[in-house]
Amino acid sequence: MKLADIIQEGLIPSELQNALLNQKLPEIYVNEDEIICNGDIKGKITIAAATNKLRHKETKKHWSRYVWNNFLHPSVASNVWKLIQGVYIDDDIMVSKGYELASRCCVCEKAQDSMQHLLWECTASIEIWEWISGVFKFKVPKSFEDVWKCAKHKSSLIQEIWITASCVILKEIWFQKNKEYFEEIKPNTQGIKIRVQKYVQEGGIRMKGYKWNQEYDDNIISFFNLGQRASKYQCIKACYWNPPTAGYILFCCDGSSFGNPGTTGFGIVIRDEFCKVIGTLCGGIGVATNYITENYAVVCAAELAMEWGLTKIVIRSDSKAVLQDFEGGKIPWFLKSRWRKAKSKVSIIRLDHCFREINFLDRYCG
Ligand SMILES: [Zn+2]
Repeated sequence: MKLADIIQEGLIPSELQNALLNQKLPEIYVNEDEIICNGDIKGKITIAAATNKLRHKETKKHWSRYVWNNFLHPSVASNVWKLIQGVYIDDDIMVSKGYELASRCCVCEKAQDSMQHLLWECTASIEIWEWISGVFKFKVPKSFEDVWKCAKHKSSLIQEIWITASCVILKEIWFQKNKEYFEEIKPNTQGIKIRVQKYVQEGGIRMKGYKWNQEYDDNIISFFNLGQRASKYQCIKACYWNPPTAGYILFCCDGSSFGNPGTTGFGIVIRDEFCKVIGTLCGGIGVATNYITENYAVVCAAELAMEWGLTKIVIRSDSKAVLQDFEGGKIPWFLKSRWRKAKSKVSIIRLDHCFREINFLDRYCG
């Protein structure tokens, strides 16, 4: 049996409706059938969306964006990655595997050997961290986490320089220990410092971040001899809020969500041509994506206009994507019939985009 056999004249028979109590079904639009699927964020079905649904996703490591990026040389990045992932052997691991050995850090010859000690607690590494932290005026890092956090509130260029410098330090300390261990070459902190400076200077060519026009940024740039660096030019645009043209009623719509997808709601403020607020509407739609919420706001605005018997309206939203999709008829399937119904009753619906900065009043509702 086909679904079409059950539905008569676009309506679900009452017996079936009773069986579907509490099930809110979308309205039926009597027209040609369409393929529907909640594929991607816009409800479209694509191969990519289907693959995405099936594939197993590992949780993303938050440090990966610091290590795997365009400005860090792969030879440094891969070694830091090994350190973070624990792809190395130290005495701690040897002992845990059952080896009995007397362990001593071969650099300071004071404490037991382990990667934790070597990178963060050994006298030689502390000296280097203090040196670099002095250059950047940061707190001396005691862990990988500290390193990632240090430059958080600095310009993008400073962040790149810091990550490069500290990753080079991590790699250098580790390699120095191996040199000491296998070739009996004593680590030379001065040598490491010079190499860090050289690495950062050479890596400067990969750094594309912008500096801020501050003495702080300039000092660090000249310390590493990075030459001329661009700062970002910010363009300030004027935007105005306009009332609707005479005879039109304006619906300002906005949706917002906690997370995407997340708990969502939308708000609408309705004004006449004299800017007088003639009504407001707000609603929650549970867990959905931001895009879907913006869609709901537009459809509800049109439905309210239909209910009030308005003929000429302007729907204003700050979501360009939603307005473009409405104009192109790419509306999520569960809203399509509601939108068409409202549209057939309201003779003129103009869609109008505005900057989110001036779409303020309804934001509070949303
Ligand atoms: Zn040590």
